[in-house]
Amino acid sequence: MQKFRLRIVLVVLTLALAASSQVRAAVTQIDAAFSRVVLGPNVEVLEDPGGQMDFDAVRASTGFRPAPGVGTNFGFTRSAWWIRFTLANADETDRHLMLREDYPLIDYLDLWKPGDNGTWQHTATGDETVFSTREFVHRDFIFDLHVPAKSERTFFVRGASAGPVDLSLTVYETHALVGTLSEEQLAYGAYFGGFIVLVLYNFFIFLIVRDRAFFLYLLYATSYGMYFAIHNGLAFEFLWPDSPAWGNQSLLVLLAMTLIFGLQFTRTFLNTAGFARRLDRSAVALQALALVGLVASFFAPYSLLIQPLAMLTVVVTILIMTMGTLGVVMGYQPARYFMTAWGMLLIGVMTYMLKVFGLLPHNMLTQNGFQVGSLMEMVLLSIALASRLRELRRQSRTDTLTKVPNRRFFDEVAATEFERAKRNQGELSLLVIDIDHFKQFNDLHGHARGDEVLKLVATHLCDGVRRGDSVCRYGGEEFALILPGTSGAEAAIVAEKLRNAVESNVSADAPITISIGVASTRDRDFDNVDDMFRAADGALYRAKDLGRNRVFRFAT
Ligand code: GH3
Ligand code: MG
Ligand code: MG
Repeated sequence: MQKFRLRIVLVVLTLALAASSQVRAAVTQIDAAFSRVVLGPNVEVLEDPGGQMDFDAVRASTGFRPAPGVGTNFGFTRSAWWIRFTLANADETDRHLMLREDYPLIDYLDLWKPGDNGTWQHTATGDETVFSTREFVHRDFIFDLHVPAKSERTFFVRGASAGPVDLSLTVYETHALVGTLSEEQLAYGAYFGGFIVLVLYNFFIFLIVRDRAFFLYLLYATSYGMYFAIHNGLAFEFLWPDSPAWGNQSLLVLLAMTLIFGLQFTRTFLNTAGFARRLDRSAVALQALALVGLVASFFAPYSLLIQPLAMLTVVVTILIMTMGTLGVVMGYQPARYFMTAWGMLLIGVMTYMLKVFGLLPHNMLTQNGFQVGSLMEMVLLSIALASRLRELRRQSRTDTLTKVPNRRFFDEVAATEFERAKRNQGELSLLVIDIDHFKQFNDLHGHARGDEVLKLVATHLCDGVRRGDSVCRYGGEEFALILPGTSGAEAAIVAEKLRNAVESNVSADAPITISIGVASTRDRDFDNVDDMFRAADGALYRAKDLGRNRVFRFAT
């Protein structure tokens, strides 16, 4: 807030000064307590539409105007922009100050500093030139400014770029800059460290579970992280300092890759082809567009592609949010994590925006809101993947027709419960249930009606048992029930209740009955659960032999 107020004061001051005298505008006072100042509107600007003016012409020009109140981000523009500002040192000592341009993607950035005897020292840098043209080895542009004691110095900056010409200039006292930079480096280290850990972690999970979604997550997170590293100038500094052409193109390539893999990840993760065919096709179309952008980046100029790609990013974001929302509405559990993840990113972006408009204080969290949000997004997507695995595991243990657990579930749980009962000298009972003359029913009423009956039987079986008991579809028209902590006698009572429930409730036009075999751990000293299952199955056959629609206990 304080900074915001300061800005207003500066704007008013600038306007007042500009009104009284053109020459005195844009003077920044440096006193002993000075630590940093955002030059913001406290500069004068000159637009050079052709970008052809040379320094002498600019220096002589009377065309400089006070900076617009919104500051000196000129957005997408073909013009070159000149900035003039004056530092006044009221002190008894010489001052070395630091000028920082914190938009690292500007193509051409030039600074003219006044030297002795009317000479000018010119530094020409920008991200279209090799990294070594910079005065300081840093992702942003930093320049050393010298203002002798009791004097004023006027400096000229020129910016031109195929992307936005954002001339966000700050003057720092040297110690203040060192403090700021070390905080920033720590934050970037934490940020990219987080990305690397997530990518490695999910890579190893991918090696183990071989789920395609993990691999797509890797590609998505890697391109996303790389995009950020390019965007804040770290990739140029550390990865390709001698390749400015690739440095500029890489932003387009990685942006396109992020869109392609982000969409592919979303499609696979949510399985959109399964429930939203149209949206899924739109996603493929957007992927194709992004691919065209990627390929075009090798031939077409940056300036032609950056805006369409930026717009494509907005459309892709909207599509991904729509697909995720639909996934949540359809009740797909992992879609919730997915949407929470995207929500995090949006909160991050909003935080940053609120800071830009001065509604939130400027601090590490708000300044880097976008990046904090993106890292949180990646963490939550990683959790979403785990949730998806769980869901897949659950699905692989569920019968699709009746929605009760399937044979795989039965085999695992029955074995576990058998061992547990043996260890604790507890009791465990198994019921094996088969629908009587079901083939006949199918032949008479059709398979579809048969399926309905299977579902109804499953429902009645589930309703008739206690919590902790498991009703599984063993196969065909056979069900197997696991009743832990239940004696054979109790299990026979449960079985009789189930038999009765099915006989009296299922199917109006043709009677449906079931036969049930019961076995319990106390019936015999079974070696393993398979022995016990065979005993219950044998009892079932006895029930069938005795005329069906009845319960038979192995022990009898
Ligand atoms: P029994 O009383 O001796 O058990 O006679 P059954 O006709 O029930 O036994 P059988 O094993 O000869 O036939 C089982 C029938 O169950 C065969 C098939 O038509 C039916 N069936 C198995 N799975 C399904 C299914 O998923 N849906 C439907 N509708 N029927 C099924
Ligand atoms: Mg550039
Ligand atoms: Mg049968």
